Amino acid sequence: MGWTNYHGHCNYCDGHDEIEAYVKKAIDLKMDAIGISSHAPLSFPSEWNMPAYKLDDYFKEIDDLKEKYSGEIPVYKSLEVDYIPNLMSPIHADILKANLDYTVGSVHFIGQMNDGTHWAVDAPADEFIKGLQETFNGDIKRAAIRYFELQREMLEIATPDIIGHLDKIKMHNKTFNLFDEDDQWYVDEVMKTLELCKEKNVIVEINTKAYYRDGHLFPGPEYFSALKRLNIPITINSDAHHPDRLLLGFDEVASLLIEAGFTHLTELVNGQWEQVEFSREGILINV
Ligand SMILES: [Zn+2]
Ligand SMILES: [Zn+2]
Repeated sequence: MGWTNYHGHCNYCDGHDEIEAYVKKAIDLKMDAIGISSHAPLSFPSEWNMPAYKLDDYFKEIDDLKEKYSGEIPVYKSLEVDYIPNLMSPIHADILKANLDYTVGSVHFIGQMNDGTHWAVDAPADEFIKGLQETFNGDIKRAAIRYFELQREMLEIATPDIIGHLDKIKMHNKTFNLFDEDDQWYVDEVMKTLELCKEKNVIVEINTKAYYRDGHLFPGPEYFSALKRLNIPITINSDAHHPDRLLLGFDEVASLLIEAGFTHLTELVNGQWEQVEFSREGILINV
């Protein structure tokens, strides 16, 4: 009995260690499976994404590690793919031909700044505020609505297996108190997006990356009962950028999910997504 994690970044993008370090750590932690999901390359420079010339090596390295550790842990090959209209999506030709085990589809970039730079909603605080000003004239409501609209567009026309950090647009609220997350317009955007996840059978990850930094989960526990009511497939991911963060907050999140009535997580079992029972200690079968 252990955990799985399908969302993690290595030193091919903005993560902090080699892929093998993550696999070894996962084995140490008695995890049942690990998926590697570097930020897929983009056609413009980005501090976070993998450069395109590294992509073939990335795939080869994961394929080699799948083989090397086949008796110990399933290693899955993935990418966290941006959705940017007309530029990148989980069904971009480069993504389809990669034959990934699954895709994590995420919206980070929601507009362009005056100098043409793409503005990421999870940029550091000062860049976030500058981008909000230049891209949406400081109007956080418009920016947040655009963020969710882009996610729904991705769900409709470029459906990923997992949607990454569904409400990450809230991440700078802790510092700047930009909007009230209980406002009806905001709740409506989250709910419309969740309903579309259900319709498209897309897995919603509970992303723990910021849990110890500022207490954020994406999506937050206030949506767990809605996830349950809508019977949306969920999984727990840490979006790890370091091997030590592979299981960050998993037991606490599991407790919150159990409190909300969840009994199953969505897991890859021999390469197929299945509903698997879980407890506070992990999933209840060996996958
Ligand atoms: Zn992301
Ligand atoms: Zn990520």
